[in-house]
Amino acid sequence: MSEQTGQCLCGSIHYKITAEPLLTAVCHCTHCQKATGSAYSINIGVPADGFHVDGDTLSTYVDKGDSGQDLRRYFCNNCGSPIYTEADVMPGMSIVKAGTLDDTSSFTPGINIFCQSKMAWLNDNGETVDFEQMPPAG
Ligand SMILES: [Zn+2]
Ligand SMILES: [Zn+2]
Repeated sequence: MSEQTGQCLCGSIHYKITAEPLLTAVCHCTHCQKATGSAYSINIGVPADGFHVDGDTLSTYVDKGDSGQDLRRYFCNNCGSPIYTEADVMPGMSIVKAGTLDDTSSFTPGINIFCQSKMAWLNDNGETVDFEQMPPAG
């Protein structure tokens, strides 16, 4: 596949994705709503060794996932853009915030997760598989 690149709003953090995505998901959880200031986050899960990030304004907020395990949210401390997340429940995966891609035209969400907290004004498009919480592993 072609390599994908992205950056934060101020441009001080850049990244490159060199691996095939493992999953794409829209997350409606309340933490993503707060972290993005929006209705949901859009995510591309890629193998961590296929995700290369650069920039000295990268900060981390250690969050707790639904599982009770740690989740590290990486963001730009200059402009506030969320860049990616690492979850202890998904070791070896970098979950990139797809809105920061330079070219978002190829992004298509495969699933919706945490639909239990989906905002009421969002209508189903009927094209994705929706899970009330985190889908079962495997
Ligand atoms: Zn920035
Ligand atoms: Zn979420």
